[in-house]
Amino acid sequence: MRILAAGFQHETNTFAPTPTRYDDFVRGGAFPAMAHGADVLGLRDVNIPIGGFLRAMRGHQVIPVLWAGATPAAHVEQDAFERIAGEIADAARALNFDAIYLDLHGAMVCRHDDDGEGRLLAMLRDIVGPRIPIVASLDLHANVTAKMLENADAMVAYRTYPHEDMAEAGERAAGLLNLLLGRGDRLVRAALRLPFLIPINGMCTLVEPAQGIYRALASAEQKTNLHLSFTPGFPAADFPECGGMVFGYGSDAGAVRAAVDTLAGEIITREADWVVPLLAPKDAVRQAMRIAATASRPVVIADTQDNPGGGGDSNTTGMLHALVACGAQGAALGLMVDPDAAAAAHNAGQGADITIALGGQSGGDAPFHATFRVEQLSDGRCIYGGPMMNGKATDVGLTARLSIGGVQVVVSSHKDQMLDRNLYRMAGVEPERMKILVNKSSVHFRADFQPIAEAVLVAKAPGPLMADPADFPWRRLAKGMRLRPLGPAFTG
Ligand SMILES: [Zn+2]
Repeated sequence: MRILAAGFQHETNTFAPTPTRYDDFVRGGAFPAMAHGADVLGLRDVNIPIGGFLRAMRGHQVIPVLWAGATPAAHVEQDAFERIAGEIADAARALNFDAIYLDLHGAMVCRHDDDGEGRLLAMLRDIVGPRIPIVASLDLHANVTAKMLENADAMVAYRTYPHEDMAEAGERAAGLLNLLLGRGDRLVRAALRLPFLIPINGMCTLVEPAQGIYRALASAEQKTNLHLSFTPGFPAADFPECGGMVFGYGSDAGAVRAAVDTLAGEIITREADWVVPLLAPKDAVRQAMRIAATASRPVVIADTQDNPGGGGDSNTTGMLHALVACGAQGAALGLMVDPDAAAAAHNAGQGADITIALGGQSGGDAPFHATFRVEQLSDGRCIYGGPMMNGKATDVGLTARLSIGGVQVVVSSHKDQMLDRNLYRMAGVEPERMKILVNKSSVHFRADFQPIAEAVLVAKAPGPLMADPADFPWRRLAKGMRLRPLGPAFTG
């Protein structure tokens, strides 16, 4: 069989300060750089869905078109969408094939269309007609829409957050595609939208309730021969179809409906369990200092609202202010993205004192004006060693470790989420030896940091990714959607 394969991933925070342009997809950032044609095959061993898909589809002829993903930020510009989607559509028009596989995120909002993935799937469906199967893999943070469900024959989502199973989701998509190609007819589907937004930090599958829900999902699949997904959603996209969804596929309509309703029922019954305890910055630091006083391992604080994996620019200073104000010792914070500060440190040299205005450029809060000691310089290159992106090389540009009092700040020139201990080590911070680590990340850091952490706290410092979705100035959400578990309903 000949399978057309393409990837187009973006998670859009419509409240974030910076739009997403074509060049952001060319660079990739948190993702691999854009790849065209046969170069896509080079992603086979990367922990992203198309990697797992390519490995699982050996024996078929896969025709790769392109793979493009950009770091989460605000709306995808129309030109970026049209160029990338256009390249996939052109290939679908020009080539002969038996099926399409798409590696999608599921939470792309474009400047000209709320539903990027729905638009792409509908474009392709128009081109190939009803007989060619289209299968997609999705991120766990997908805001699944009616248009996506209507135009794909089947979709499967990740089941872990931190996303350790990205490649596995591609393998599951390959399994579904093989099933569809073998049957020659379509699967039936059921889907149910959840009635409340789930906070990002509450979606972590290392802890309850998400851990138990995904266990229930897997066991329901084993018993029934159905294909189920639960996407808790990305609660930072202001459009009517934002929110969590349970959906599934099978050959018996009644069985699929029942399995989807049962799983959704368990999620809804546990509504109170999805509430996340959130701390003000100084409260988080004081609590961490209290725990650290008698601990041999670091306390990790998630600076979740400035997470670059959710649209943050990673330069707010709220947590740095709190650390310094509370007199924290043995503390490190990363990554603080400020290319001017990193350049100033490199110009001054190791051991020098520099007086600068650090961070705060995106307007989330003010810069931190102070004199810092330049402790160590780095080229910003390292190889991830943690479980999520093991072996991936990253380059965050000129980097410096600055200190102020008992606080070390790893200042980089480009964004990258603090999800791997090597991002600290490249600047000379040994994470295991610190008392307190403040990570600009929401949940992904837990994969590599939870094993060394005495405790994990979640702080609400300034940033565009609200830990409590009720804090966003929603305008276009579905009426009646509760803005957090047990929270007020959106009234329009
Ligand atoms: Zn995600």
